[in-house]
Amino acid sequence: MTSGQGSSCEHGFVSFVQGPLSLILSSAFRPAGTSSSRLLSCWLWSRRSASFGDGFNPDGVDPVDVKWRAKLTALPKADLHLHQEAHRCLDRILARREGRAAFDWAAWRRHFMETVPPGPQRLRLIGSVKPVPLADDDDEMFVARFAELLEYEGAAGATYVEVRCGGDTILKDGFMDLFRRAERQAQERYPRLRAEALAIVMMGMPPEWIREIADACIRTRSEGLAGVDFLYEPYLSEADWTPIYALAERFAGVGLGITAHAGEMTPANIAAAARTPGLTRIGHGIYAAAEPALMDLLIERQITLECALTCNTFLGAVPSLAEHPLPRLVETGVKVTLATDNPIQVGTTIEGEYAAAASLGVTAGQLAQITRTAIQAGFTTPDRRSELLAELDAYVNDALR
Ligand SMILES: [Zn+2]
Repeated sequence: MTSGQGSSCEHGFVSFVQGPLSLILSSAFRPAGTSSSRLLSCWLWSRRSASFGDGFNPDGVDPVDVKWRAKLTALPKADLHLHQEAHRCLDRILARREGRAAFDWAAWRRHFMETVPPGPQRLRLIGSVKPVPLADDDDEMFVARFAELLEYEGAAGATYVEVRCGGDTILKDGFMDLFRRAERQAQERYPRLRAEALAIVMMGMPPEWIREIADACIRTRSEGLAGVDFLYEPYLSEADWTPIYALAERFAGVGLGITAHAGEMTPANIAAAARTPGLTRIGHGIYAAAEPALMDLLIERQITLECALTCNTFLGAVPSLAEHPLPRLVETGVKVTLATDNPIQVGTTIEGEYAAAASLGVTAGQLAQITRTAIQAGFTTPDRRSELLAELDAYVNDALR
């Protein structure tokens, strides 16, 4: 493992935090008198307002047109790149049960942005704060925290969500049964929502650990596991993909969908990821926009990128939202979807991501196409895909006329 490199997501296997800084980053934002939910909602509102601000003109609609807002809310939205946010969901649940405020992520974000330089350093540190331990992650809590996450997505208008689970989550007894219980629970409030589970294979772990996770992925495929995501070291420079290709062939052989993190902060590993057997998507991949040959490769291989605008901006993968390469990727013909990555931590929702894309000039029709691309690239079943596409068609025929 090359220290100091990782992805923005819940690795579990990479602990970048070095002592005192970890404490500073986490302890300062324990629940205090201020309501964190109020802070979060204020931040979301300001962000959403900004997203509907000057320069936003989807298909010629008035930027602050309430009808457009209603259309965006009604638009079926898909999130293909969502980490389980285990500690964050558990904290929200426990906070409600204990009558305390949840961890103040909005304050943490402000402090993080003031004290940690953008780019690789933020990437190294973002996964460091765990507001509560997972010590009591029994079946009931396991279901509750996945339901918490899915309801968070459902509230933002998601109709299709893929949750990727790192660490040894896939080894949990009855994993898929528990995940489906959480899905049904979320569907009681958000009936349009469908969810699938992915497992993250962390190639920086010891070989015997990787073997155990890989075997569990293949075994769990028959129970409904939809796909796998590869994380590896080094992440920001060229890695050795030989062991990934060997595993990917096994996964593809049993019908698991395959995606991999790459191209989040550098172009490194995008080409290698694109050549992975069975791979049809890349998490992030936005640095392909810097190299026409990489975009050509993605187009040639019909690979879909999972773009997380807020997370990219928060980490400094791009200088600002306004400079995000999403429009260039869309114009060039690269398939893109929108994603939240770690929405509770970075303070976004899938609706916020669609609004952010609109602020970059992505039109209403293109937003609907992004959902279509996501459904087509999703690792769900053919039946569910057909249902989701039919619902999207109904929306397009009605709302976008
Ligand atoms: Zn991720």
